Amino acid sequence: MIVGIDFGTTNSLIANSEIFINERGSRITPSIVFFRNNNEVLVGDLAKSQMYIRPDKVILNVKRDLGKGKEYIINNEKFKAEEIASFIFKKLKNIVNEEISSAVITVPAYFDDNQRNGVLEAASIAGLDVVKLLNEPVAAAIGYGINIENKKILVLDFGGGTFDITLMEIKDDVFNVLKTGGSSELGGIDFDNILVNWIVNTVKEKDGIDLNVDPVALQQLYIHAENAKIDLSVVENTDIIIPYIATLNNRPYHLNLNINRDIFLSISKGLIEKIEKLILEVANEEIDEIIFVGGSSRLFFLKELVKKIFPDKKIISDLNPEEIVVKGAGLYAQVLEGKINNILLRDILPHSLGVLDDEGNFIEILKSGIHYPSSETEIFTNTKDNQDTIIIKVLQKKNDEMINLGDFEFKFSKKWKKNEARIAVNFSLNINGLLEITAEDLNTGQSLKGKITNAMVNRKSINKDFINNYKII
Ligand code: ADP
Ligand code: MG
Repeated sequence: MIVGIDFGTTNSLIANSEIFINERGSRITPSIVFFRNNNEVLVGDLAKSQMYIRPDKVILNVKRDLGKGKEYIINNEKFKAEEIASFIFKKLKNIVNEEISSAVITVPAYFDDNQRNGVLEAASIAGLDVVKLLNEPVAAAIGYGINIENKKILVLDFGGGTFDITLMEIKDDVFNVLKTGGSSELGGIDFDNILVNWIVNTVKEKDGIDLNVDPVALQQLYIHAENAKIDLSVVENTDIIIPYIATLNNRPYHLNLNINRDIFLSISKGLIEKIEKLILEVANEEIDEIIFVGGSSRLFFLKELVKKIFPDKKIISDLNPEEIVVKGAGLYAQVLEGKINNILLRDILPHSLGVLDDEGNFIEILKSGIHYPSSETEIFTNTKDNQDTIIIKVLQKKNDEMINLGDFEFKFSKKWKKNEARIAVNFSLNINGLLEITAEDLNTGQSLKGKITNAMVNRKSINKDFINNYKII
């Protein structure tokens, strides 16, 4: 069976024709890893309950750190972000009782080459063979069973820690990502933080108690704040009741506060303005439909806000927004299994790829916005006498940032005088939008073996045995 996986910053899911249920009977597994000891790790809800008590042994939001060379130290041991993420993939894999031949994994449309490779590495450590990296907004559109007719859609994916906005065009049966935006620093957790602050300040003013100084009390506040936020998406007001949260004059203190939507709106004003601004940066009047994705898209004011910005556009939000991405990934997995009709996908490169010249300038080779698979060949020569190797520094230009993808070193069969070597370097994007580089010596007609150094993710050096040292629960 081919599975579809939504590996989220906050929550992860796995599906084929249906979403698989974990050992707790839930379709959603929090993307949280807790090291119980040196060879036992808990993933999901079990890890979530430890996150405030043992923050030194818990890893949250690992998706953000993939492909960036990030390492964590837990119990005096070093772990790469990709290794931590592999625990989550393995856990998802364990939920499924059937043999998994391969997987479709969703990734944010704006993920660069390193981040995409980071996802592949993590999945590969968990023993998953990835057949397709599917862009999340495209998966959401497939999940909603969007009518394949020519139109422009705006996908608002509001999760736990990120707000991803994508403008997409469906044209002649093809999904084209036109523009991406949003913020990787804005999500549901920010509303939880604001609510916790509100509770702390209210209790301080009312009863003179500072709950901020007690980590166990704070843990309780975070859990109850998130619940209250979720309540408010259904009801006008709700009670936050936490017995025995502190002591006052040697007596137990029970927290009991009521919060309503007006208070929530007024304390979240800054965040809501930010949301509006981010939407306007990506969207324009040409859109035909807006689709809601992600748990935080249930926030009670969001639909009103979007209606205010675009009064006459159709909003599609009738399915479970937390499940829509994995549903699309599961559908696409079934397409690859030949069980349902083909859906054509044509993705675009989110950020230009190129090389660094001797003066340190970025020379663009594959332009952002081109469709993949695709390839481009460039001729390089040597700049010094007696040179038998050439090093090509490959970069990806992500907004104002230059992402280093590694140094590709090619060795010639002989030493050339300055400007005599001629090598044709082929930059190609595979079906997952990943860069593959090959080279040919034009003087001899031989293909050259490349060596990659300085790369954030080097798929050739993945240690797949690592995960066997751990029991994953
Ligand atoms: P991600 O894609 O980042 O993994 P999800 O799409 O699963 O995340 O969204 C998780 C977020 O959704 C959490 O911050 C959670 O509090 C929030 N959330 C879930 N249900 C609701 C609701 N009814 N109202 C508001 N926020 C919600
Ligand atoms: Mg998500």
